[in-house]
Amino acid sequence: MNPLDPILKPKSIAVVGASRREGAIGREILHQLIEFDFHGKVFPVNPKAAFIHSIKAFPTVSSIPDPVDVAIIVVPREEVLSVVDDCGKKGVKGLVVITAGFSETGEEGKRIEGQLGERVREYGMRMIGPNCMGVINTDPSVRMDATFAPTLPLGGRIAFMSQSGALGVAILNIARQLDIGFSYFVSLGNKTNVSGNDLLQYWEDDSQTDLILMYLESFGRAKRFMQICRRISKRKPLLVVKSGRTEAGARAATSHTGALAASQGLDVATGALLEQCGVIRVNTVEELFDLALAFSKNPLPRGNRLGILTNAGGPAIMATDTAIAHGLGMADFSERTCHELRRLLPPEASIQNPVDMTPQSDRSKYEACARILLEDDGIDMLLVVFVPPMLINAMEIISGLEQLRHRYLKPVVGVIMATEEFFVEFNRDHPNHMALYIFPESAVSGLAALHHYRLWRDKPVGEVKRFEVRKGAAEDIMHEARLKGRTLLTAEESLRLIGCYGIPVAESIPAADRGELEQIAKRVRYPAVLKAAAPDLVHKMDAGGVLVDLRGPEELLAAAQKMTESVARHRGDTAGAGSLGFLVQEYVRGGREVIVGMSQDPKYGPLVMFGLGGIYVETVKDVVFRVPPLTDLEAQEMIRQIRGYSLLRGVRGDAPIDFDALADVLQRFSQLADEMPEIAEIEINPLLVFPQAADFRAVDARVRLGEKTGERG
Ligand code: ADP
Ligand code: MG
Repeated sequence: MNPLDPILKPKSIAVVGASRREGAIGREILHQLIEFDFHGKVFPVNPKAAFIHSIKAFPTVSSIPDPVDVAIIVVPREEVLSVVDDCGKKGVKGLVVITAGFSETGEEGKRIEGQLGERVREYGMRMIGPNCMGVINTDPSVRMDATFAPTLPLGGRIAFMSQSGALGVAILNIARQLDIGFSYFVSLGNKTNVSGNDLLQYWEDDSQTDLILMYLESFGRAKRFMQICRRISKRKPLLVVKSGRTEAGARAATSHTGALAASQGLDVATGALLEQCGVIRVNTVEELFDLALAFSKNPLPRGNRLGILTNAGGPAIMATDTAIAHGLGMADFSERTCHELRRLLPPEASIQNPVDMTPQSDRSKYEACARILLEDDGIDMLLVVFVPPMLINAMEIISGLEQLRHRYLKPVVGVIMATEEFFVEFNRDHPNHMALYIFPESAVSGLAALHHYRLWRDKPVGEVKRFEVRKGAAEDIMHEARLKGRTLLTAEESLRLIGCYGIPVAESIPAADRGELEQIAKRVRYPAVLKAAAPDLVHKMDAGGVLVDLRGPEELLAAAQKMTESVARHRGDTAGAGSLGFLVQEYVRGGREVIVGMSQDPKYGPLVMFGLGGIYVETVKDVVFRVPPLTDLEAQEMIRQIRGYSLLRGVRGDAPIDFDALADVLQRFSQLADEMPEIAEIEINPLLVFPQAADFRAVDARVRLGEKTGERG
C-alpha cells in the first residue's frame, strides 16, 4: 500500500471541526463529501454537537468506534497539535490540514508549523497542508470531494495539484464550465509533509490519470523534481503554470553569464529546468486550460502538418499565423483531396489550405469536407472553424464531426467564435465533445502543444558522459588562490583550471611586472598576444588591455608600454605609473568566438550557458541556459538552439566548425560545473572554435569562488 492511499483513497473520513454553522468551512467540507456521494464512512467530529448535517457526531477522533483512514482538520490553529495527537492515538494514517495561520503568516506560525511537521513524522503519518483547500478523488470507487469549493468536480483523467488554495476554487469552477474533468485534485498548501514531488510519483503509475497539471509557486527540491519529471513526462504530459520570478538584481554580476542570467526577464533557471525535463510550461491559467483541453480530448499527432477548414477567411488567417509561429506546418493537400474538394464546393470557395467553404456551408458540407481532409495522409491534425451566421447550427455541425473524429486517429479541434454563455450551455447539454475554443489562437496553441509533446516523448534520452579529469589539480588551483585571500582567479589560473577538465586553452605565461616580461620576451613564441592582468579590469579590451598579433620581443615590449599607459588612463590614474601585471599568450588566428559560462542560481544551483561570444555578448544576447549535468544530446541541442547557429555552420562558403568537439567542451564544462559547487561563477569568453578540433582554444576565462561549502539539493 502506498503511504498516500489513506489520504487519496480513504474508506473512512473524520471531519474534525465539522460545524453546524451555514458557510463555515467545517460544514462545507462535510456537505461536499455527502453531496459528491463519498463511497465510504464519514464521521463529523465536534465536542459540542451530537449531530451535524443529520449525522451523528463524535467529540474526538479517538472516540470514533470504527477505523479512520484520514482526518480532515478544520479546527483553529491552536488546537491542531492536540487533534494530531488524538489522531495518533487512534492510529489515523493520513491528515489533510485545512487550517491556515502557519508559516505563511510569519515567525510564530513558522514555529508551530515546524512542531506540526515534527509531530506528524513521529506518528508516521502523511499530511497534506496545512493552509490548503482539500483533496478530491473522482474515482467511482472513492468519490471523495473533501474541499470547501462549492463546485462539484467532473470526473476525468487529469490530475491537478495547486499550491494556491484560492486559485484552486476558481480552477474547479472554470474546469467544470470548460467540460474538463479530473481524476484527482490536490491543494498542496504549505507542503510541510507531502510535497509536489510525492504527488507526481503517486500519479506516475496511477491508471486513472493520463495528464498532470500543476500550479506551482516554488519547487522544493529542484533536482529531485527534475529527475521525476524527466521520467514521467515520457509517459504522461506534465503541464505547469509556474509563477514567481527570481530575485534578479540579487546576484553579483561580475561576468556576462551572471548578468545575462539575471537580465533575461523571465527566470531562466526555471525555464531551463522545465524544458530539460519535458515539462510544458505556460504563463497563465487560461493557457493551461487551452492545452489541457487539447490533451484530454485528442490522440497525439503523427506529425506537424495542420489542415484548416473554415466558413470565413479572417479566423483562418489568424490560425495560420499562430500555427507557423508555433512551429506547425500548413499541410499540402494531395491531388485527390483537391479534386474532391473542388467537386464538392462552390467555385468561389478556396480549396487551398485553409479550406474556406464560404458562409453557405451546412452540416453536410462540413462533414464531407472534414472527411476528405482526415482521409489525406498528408494531414496530421485538423482545425475546424465556425463563425456566425452558422452559429445556429453549431451544435449540429459538432455532432456531425464528433462521429467522424473518432474514426481517424488524428487530433480534431473546433473554434466557435461565440459568447462564453454559449459554451457554458453547450457543455452542459453535450458532455464529452471535441475540444472547442472561442479563439483560433488558443486552439492552435493546443494543437502545437500536442505536436511538441510528441516530439519530446519520442526523443531519445541521451546520456551524461563522465570524463577522466584532473579534479585534484583543479582544486589545488582554487585552494592556492584562497590561501592568498582571493576569490577571483586570474585569467591564467582560470584557464589552467578549465584545462584540468580537458578544455583546450591557449598557452599562457604570466609576468608579474615589466621586469619579468623582459625576461620572458625572448622565450615566447610569436606572434603573441599581450594582456593586462589586473583583477579590477572586468573587460580588459575596454581598457586597452588586449594587444594581439605581436611579431617579436620589440613589439611585445612596446605594447607593454602602450598598455600600461592606456590602462592607467582607463583607471583615471593620471600619474600613469601604477605597476601592471601581464599575460603573454599564443596568438590564435581566425576562428569563431563562443562563450561558455556557469552561474549559481540561488534556488537551483548551477546553470550552464552557451552562446555567441566575444566582447559584444551582452549586446547580442544570443545565449541559452541548461541545468547540469548535460547529456550528450542536450549539449548538441544547446548549440543548435542559439540564433547564431548558422554562423557556426558556416556562411559564404566557410567550413562548419567541429560540432562534436564543441559538444564535448560543453559536456566537460558541465561536469566541472556539477563537480565544483564552490565555484560561484565561471566564464570562458571567448572560446575560439574551428573546423578542426585540434585548433580549438579558450583564450580568456574568469572564475569566481563562492562559499566554501556549496550545499545543493
Ligand atoms: P576581455 O574579455 O577582458 O576584453 P579577452 O581576453 O577576452 O579580453 O580579449 C578580447 C578579445 O580579443 C577576444 O574576444 C578576442 O577576439 C581577442 N583575443 C584575445 N586573446 C586572443 C588570442 N590569444 N588570440 C587571438 N585573439 C585574441
Ligand atoms: Mg573575454
